[in-house]
Amino acid sequence: MKSFKYRLYPTGKQARTLQWMLDRTRELYNAALQERRDAYRMAHKSITYYDQANQLPEIKGIREEYKDIHSQVLQDVLRGVDKAMKAFFRRVKSGETPGYPRFQGRDRYDSFTYPQAGFSLTQDSRVCLSKIGSIKVKLHRELQGTIKTCTIKREGTCWYVVFACEGEAAPLPVSDEAVGIDLGLLHFATLSTGETIENPRYFRKGEKKREKLQQALSKKKRGSHRRKKAVQSVAKAHRKVRNQRADFLHKESRMLVNQYGVIVFEELQPANMSRRAKPKQDENGTYLPNGASAKSGLNKSIQDAGWGQFVGYCTYKAENAGRTVVQVNPRYTSQVCSGCGTIRKKTLEERWHSCECGTELDRDHNAAINILRLGRSQQLAMAVEAPRL
Ligand SMILES: [Zn+2]
Repeated sequence: MKSFKYRLYPTGKQARTLQWMLDRTRELYNAALQERRDAYRMAHKSITYYDQANQLPEIKGIREEYKDIHSQVLQDVLRGVDKAMKAFFRRVKSGETPGYPRFQGRDRYDSFTYPQAGFSLTQDSRVCLSKIGSIKVKLHRELQGTIKTCTIKREGTCWYVVFACEGEAAPLPVSDEAVGIDLGLLHFATLSTGETIENPRYFRKGEKKREKLQQALSKKKRGSHRRKKAVQSVAKAHRKVRNQRADFLHKESRMLVNQYGVIVFEELQPANMSRRAKPKQDENGTYLPNGASAKSGLNKSIQDAGWGQFVGYCTYKAENAGRTVVQVNPRYTSQVCSGCGTIRKKTLEERWHSCECGTELDRDHNAAINILRLGRSQQLAMAVEAPRL
């Protein structure tokens, strides 16, 4: 199962309907939870999903407005309660003292799901929802597989649709090509082929905007209407940066997985990253070629880069396509000469690898070649060991 999330553009009236649906489903969730809680407290009796689902027609009789919500959506809400309760009892059984499942407030409860039917996606980029109508959707990336469920989600003032799809993971043709990848700060990634993947400029732009809004927020009076507005703006800027980053990482990981049968990365270690985050040139206040001052720029870039997320995306895409991601020990990858294997110590600001053996190339390119070599020998070692298992 893979999910695809797209922004919805409801009209004002549709947005009010969506919010109304959220309020109703939240109400049902809390009521169902209350019923179970009472039964458990008073009679130590547990109510099942079916007990509750069987009451839905009756509920619709008393509260006519529930007829305006697709019945599968309501069933899905009750299944959600069921899941929360089962998890609770599982923990009780194993001797823990878990907190009782929580009642959902307006800000916490942010989605409802059509588990099977009641929705469709049209050719002209609209999502049709039963009892709501057709809403404009921005399909910024291609949907793959067969849609199984459709979730409508609110984030702040924005609405999204999330399709969970069963992937007929389009099998890719066999590729013998392997690539080593050095993840870095100057370039987002350097490939053993010498190509680079750059961080999009809008990351820093978005980050700057977010900082500005954050500062504006800190000046607003607590509890004021303006403060509430400012909180929303900050959250919106956050979301934008996050979504843009995810798009970038999806696109780049897709390209790599499509081309290479084996992709080798360094193991990402938090300690390793923080060491790289405090290079010497900080103290001199020198500037990196990316134009940001080293001190703030480096830390920002680390957050921006989302290396872990990237390796994660590559890994699951590779698994779906029958390809391989290998991770190798990062020790010495930037110091060893990819031409002759001797160690040539370099400081962080030395961007060029130059060796007596005649090897001359970019520092990160050299590292990427070493990473590829390590990945290959690691795979070979595993292939030799395999028969013994
Ligand atoms: Zn050399």
